[in-house]
Amino acid sequence: MIFGRCCALVVLGVVLACAGRGLAGRAPVDGITDALQLPDGVRPIHYAIDLELDPAREGFRGTAAIDIELSAPARVIWLHGRDLHVHECAFELPGGPRAAAVFEQVTPFGVARVTLPRTVGPGRMTLHFAWDAAFSDAVQTGLFRSRTGGEVYVIAEFLSADARRAFPGFDEPRFKTPFDVRVTVPAALLTVSNERTVEESVLQNGSKRVRFATTRPLPTYLLFVAAGPFDVIARTLPPNEVRGRPLAVRGIAPRGRGRELSFALETGAPLLAALERWLAIPFPYGKLDHVAAGDYPGAKENAGAILYGADLLLLDPEHPDEESRHSAAMVMAHEMAHQWFGALVTAPWFTDAWLNESFAQFLGYRIADEYRPAWGLALNHLTDLDKIMTADGFASARAIRRPVKSFDDIQGLLGDGFIYEKGMAVLATFERWIGAEAFRAGLREYVRTHADGTASADDMLAALSRAAGRDVATSFRGFVEKPGIPVIMARAACDAHGARVYFSERRYRPRGSKALDEEWQVPVCARFEFDGGMAERCVLVPPEGTALELPECPRWFLPDAGGIGYYRWTLAPPDQAELNARAMTHLSPAERLSVARNARAAQRAGLAGYAETMDTLVALAGDPVAAVAAVGMEAIRDARDHLLDGADRPLAETVARRLYRPGLRGDGFEAPNGEDEPARRRRIEPVRFLAEVARDPEVRREAARRGLAFADVPDGRFNPDAVAADLAALALRIAIEKRGPALYDALLPRLEHTEGQERASLVYALAAADSPSLAGRAGTLWRDPRLRPTERLFPALLDYDRGIMLRTYRQMPRDFESMAAAVPASLVDILPLAARELCDARELTGARQLLGRVVAKYPSMQPTAARALEGIEVCAAERHADSAAAKSWFERIARPTVE
Ligand SMILES: [Zn+2]
Repeated sequence: MIFGRCCALVVLGVVLACAGRGLAGRAPVDGITDALQLPDGVRPIHYAIDLELDPAREGFRGTAAIDIELSAPARVIWLHGRDLHVHECAFELPGGPRAAAVFEQVTPFGVARVTLPRTVGPGRMTLHFAWDAAFSDAVQTGLFRSRTGGEVYVIAEFLSADARRAFPGFDEPRFKTPFDVRVTVPAALLTVSNERTVEESVLQNGSKRVRFATTRPLPTYLLFVAAGPFDVIARTLPPNEVRGRPLAVRGIAPRGRGRELSFALETGAPLLAALERWLAIPFPYGKLDHVAAGDYPGAKENAGAILYGADLLLLDPEHPDEESRHSAAMVMAHEMAHQWFGALVTAPWFTDAWLNESFAQFLGYRIADEYRPAWGLALNHLTDLDKIMTADGFASARAIRRPVKSFDDIQGLLGDGFIYEKGMAVLATFERWIGAEAFRAGLREYVRTHADGTASADDMLAALSRAAGRDVATSFRGFVEKPGIPVIMARAACDAHGARVYFSERRYRPRGSKALDEEWQVPVCARFEFDGGMAERCVLVPPEGTALELPECPRWFLPDAGGIGYYRWTLAPPDQAELNARAMTHLSPAERLSVARNARAAQRAGLAGYAETMDTLVALAGDPVAAVAAVGMEAIRDARDHLLDGADRPLAETVARRLYRPGLRGDGFEAPNGEDEPARRRRIEPVRFLAEVARDPEVRREAARRGLAFADVPDGRFNPDAVAADLAALALRIAIEKRGPALYDALLPRLEHTEGQERASLVYALAAADSPSLAGRAGTLWRDPRLRPTERLFPALLDYDRGIMLRTYRQMPRDFESMAAAVPASLVDILPLAARELCDARELTGARQLLGRVVAKYPSMQPTAARALEGIEVCAAERHADSAAAKSWFERIARPTVE
């Protein structure tokens, strides 16, 4: 599962899940005390489900026969069914007649019971149901209708516990069974499910009935059906060394958009084969469909039928936007990895949902990065991960493996960026520590052993420990069962007795954080340069610290080999000086990024001074890798916004221009022939920074010129040749700033017909307008009915634009409820984060009161509200500690140099 556009939500340290909120998690019901999990004693074995789906109707109909096994005599069978009008309920013992039973939903979130006329069992029996229900369009879960391009589609979204909105059943991930699905639809429509079609029959009434092949055992949340006037592009993947059979793969898009599937189909094939090779296990299901739905906010890994928001999967083949291509590839790799981690092997309960997401993220990045190393996906991911590491230093950070006792717990967990990014990073840390081969062997054994069943973190850690030949579980558990991130403090000591490095650890805390102490056993891999060459050594650092004996005194060392460790680190000043002076030409891009990021982190925690940190970052401003150079850009932007007084902000602009203007290639907008992806990023990042932070007049003039040419087409369309897609949003935004309300008014009506990347640029430029004459209108753009629910407020927060976030926050006292109603339920919990930009202790009281009222009304917003408030405290603490040092550093750098 991925919510929102890949990775962008990670910037906020949070992603959020769907619907089902506002209800109490526990409701004692007679016979069961915890309504969240069904009692033991009944196990489903097989479902036969018939659904009648017609997007033109308000609801749907269904029948089901569910074979179950009772382990003890029972008269009441607990199961799920939510808001279903069940008009027939019966049971049938093997060889016996059908007899009527009574179905009742007993809790609002869909715990239900079937009462039999007499006690039966133990043994097998079949439950029969017939029902009808309304489509749940408003919450976009269960079976809902998606409208796009003037057509209507029926889509299923059953995560986390919403299959119960579509059919009665045992709606928990621990229950995996084969499903036989039949769907009846109007004859002109296509219908899709998890397996391939085996029979299609035309009915008298203009409908057709489609029967799909029996599935392998699946949990209810991964079942899928859809119906609508889709475009279909079919391909066949040839067998490979892992899969002996060909595999049918289809791209499925809303009508008229089939041509936008070509990138997905071209890219999906090699990614899938790479996953099969990595795992040495063939794709488990009979076929694979990539289904794009109109405004679905994210992607979902249904077995054999992955669902994507159209904007994530579909790309304009004539004007491809490089970043959209990367995120499409990454999301596809993530969702396909779920076919093994989630579908084939399923976490039995949501406590271990992090396993599914961490592995999908880990393998997704691994495979996509190996497919196109030049895209730099793994490296860019480290930049996103750094945000999660920062949030993990807060008191509001929560463990990624934690008890799940309520519906809000489920939503909160799946919506938590930590289970994706931290989980993936912890896996990568342990992969480095035990070695890639042992790590992969352990995972292969884990998947093979538990295929078609369920498995927990304990099973996974036991497999890894076996493969590594040592205990991995104890140390690993510390990272997933506790919140927080350790900081490793290292210093080298060379004397007559030999050479060694002392390591110690404690919890990393930025200034202002009230996070509690924690202890870990931290697997640290360090890189050394000795006189004889490079070496890597790994060590487990316990809370009391440890010393690593070395053969000789190192010239320098980096306590984060590969730059991937899930810990912060800081060196004693002499060791840091050696590293800065001698190591950079030997370090990989990820390792240089680790140097830059950890310098910043140490400064924020008060472990390093402001000036020395900035000097380290300035030395990396010319780094050939954009992500490394960008750490300094971010520090300058932070200083401009939060550390320097308004009157001193021109200092930040001057320094920004001085440091980054020399790296601009040409005007920055024109891609040279044959430009590769690293060069593209190295060109784009300074353009954005110079335009927005440095406010460089020449760059802004060029941006405005191109933005106008992009917008200024009399027929109301855009001219994609005027500016490359990756700079279109910036250019349009600056053009609006220069031209003012006239251009704004001309662009607004285009919301009615603009699609794809151009739409994303348009929405962003309209929402970000911050000139005095437009800020008010931009601030209330979210009310515009031409915006889609996923676009209201959300793109603003998504792009982490500080102006938009502050404007959003200022409206909250009056308009919070309308804002919450305007955005999709799956994203609403993100709203409190808008407060985080305040960075002023004097505003803290007001923010506490406001968010306190918000949380009282929307309890599921508690975690994001807490994080936002803590963000203000941390930012204010940094300002208090470092603003004077920042001012003198910027004055020193901005001073004209006399030669
Ligand atoms: Zn996922």
